[in-house]
Amino acid sequence: MFVVLDGRSALDDIASGELCCPCGGLFRPWGHARVRLIRQLDGSHAPLQPRRMVCTVCRRTHVLLPASSLPRRRDSVESIGAALLMAANGNGHRTIAADLDRPESTVRNWLRRARRGAAWLNRTGIMAAYEFDPGHGPMAVRATPTAEAVDALGYATAAAVRRLGLVGLSPWSIITMVSRGRLLGGFPDG
Ligand SMILES: [Zn+2]
Repeated sequence: MFVVLDGRSALDDIASGELCCPCGGLFRPWGHARVRLIRQLDGSHAPLQPRRMVCTVCRRTHVLLPASSLPRRRDSVESIGAALLMAANGNGHRTIAADLDRPESTVRNWLRRARRGAAWLNRTGIMAAYEFDPGHGPMAVRATPTAEAVDALGYATAAAVRRLGLVGLSPWSIITMVSRGRLLGGFPDG
């Protein structure tokens, strides 16, 4: 699975050879993954149908997931990000669930996953922040690992926006790109 900013520009990247299979082979379009309904921050649902690619060498297929959503999540990254931001500001899962109108168990699961991956997310955010802005100052110390991770990813996003001149993109989509779709899991050991 690859996370891409939007399906259309990903096709341009493939055409120019920027996105290719881990084996080094070139992709070509291979239909679509199934349609999923993604719950937006305002509670409405929007259909999502990621494009699928096939490697011309190893024949494996890969899904190009738009960065507005996360793998295996029914809620948009905007909604999940809003929950993480509230948690970083000291709110518990019940308050957040009530505020976002989501089940408590769903929000608790998001926060648990983010907490479990917080060290990796923090490291990834810090590295990206310095990559986009080598003159970046030190990160502030925050009360919890989740808050530090959200902070670091926020710095990285602001630096990416400045450096790359990104306009009209949701910060959480950029965070999804920076963290390669692993905001809520799939964390490597190293
Ligand atoms: Zn391949």
